Amino acid sequence: MLRISLECAHSGDPLFMEPYWRRNAAESAVLVAGWHRMSYQANGESFISLELERHLRLLHEAVGNAITRDRFIVFGVGSTQLVNAAVHALSPDDVNFNESSTALVVGTAPVYGLYKQQTKLFDSRENLWDGLTSNLKNFNASSGANFIEFVTSPNNPDGQLKQSVIGASSVIYDHAYYWPHYTAIPNPADEDIMLFTVSKVSGHAGSRFGWALVKDNKVYQKMVQYLFLNTMGVSRDTQLRILKLLKVILAQVGREGDIFKFSYETLNKRWTKLSNVISSSSRFSLQKISPQYCTYFHKIRDPSPAYAWVKCERMEETDCEAVLREAGIISRTGEAFEAESRYTRLSLIKTKDDFDQLLTKIEALVSNERVSS
Ligand code: PMP
Repeated sequence: MLRISLECAHSGDPLFMEPYWRRNAAESAVLVAGWHRMSYQANGESFISLELERHLRLLHEAVGNAITRDRFIVFGVGSTQLVNAAVHALSPDDVNFNESSTALVVGTAPVYGLYKQQTKLFDSRENLWDGLTSNLKNFNASSGANFIEFVTSPNNPDGQLKQSVIGASSVIYDHAYYWPHYTAIPNPADEDIMLFTVSKVSGHAGSRFGWALVKDNKVYQKMVQYLFLNTMGVSRDTQLRILKLLKVILAQVGREGDIFKFSYETLNKRWTKLSNVISSSSRFSLQKISPQYCTYFHKIRDPSPAYAWVKCERMEETDCEAVLREAGIISRTGEAFEAESRYTRLSLIKTKDDFDQLLTKIEALVSNERVSS
């Protein structure tokens, strides 16, 4: 049974950006009169606001993290909705369906758990969760098998930039964290299907807004049809709010008050503090992320991942989530990412209070280690 918890260092709720929006409270506020935006329809096709679409393209251009030229844009109720919309769109058409063409959905561990959970939940005969790429012995791209590979880059949970492992013909790139807050941007992403979410750009996870950049017209049409039948698009109120937020972000790019600079500095400080504490531990270790040149900041930048991927190093401590829970820290077990329970994920993107408490508890754990050794 899936446990849904938004507590403590468990969830990826990006509240660390709240101070930025407090500073921009007036500029980012939205007031909607009762008679406004009542219709199902927006001014763009398939329920999308053309002005918002234009601003999303401007945002990618300003950040340099994705090519939007010659790409269609689909809006979703969070990128959560677009995950299955994309799987559906890449699966065989119902008309031509025969069982041997069922699309096999795969990912590489540690992998964001939603891909498997959704594919299993929708339990379609068009596609099924086929597990990890490491289990695909002797994979042969020309075998005719129909694979859909998820690549999360940077990866949730370990923050590494990733590429397709099996070279499947259909790859869904989830770029939720491909923003200067969390990673160096070495070049603009240029893949066939790329998913993004406002949750991790502005922090407005509760507005439930994501978008996909899609190269192929047929895939785009199938995603649009999915959105039509599923929710008839995204709330127009949400679209209006996101437009306002993007205008504030765009007005400050490269200037004093740049959200990317603020977010990078916040997360880099958190990562540095946590790594310093863990570096004196022999009981726990963290993932290694190398400094890398970032085209947004025009310099080599230090890591600022959204999550710490913690490993329990003691032979007998095979359940790292339980070890941390014992110390009052709620994390997400490695098993939720199809990895060993010797690993667990800590969220570094919650509020300052959450992080400060987390750090205090980790410091206590590590200093006890020194006392007892
Ligand atoms: N992809 C990844 C890798 C994520 O971490 C998340 C959120 N935790 C999502 C997609 C979904 O984001 P949302 O539905 O809030 O847009």
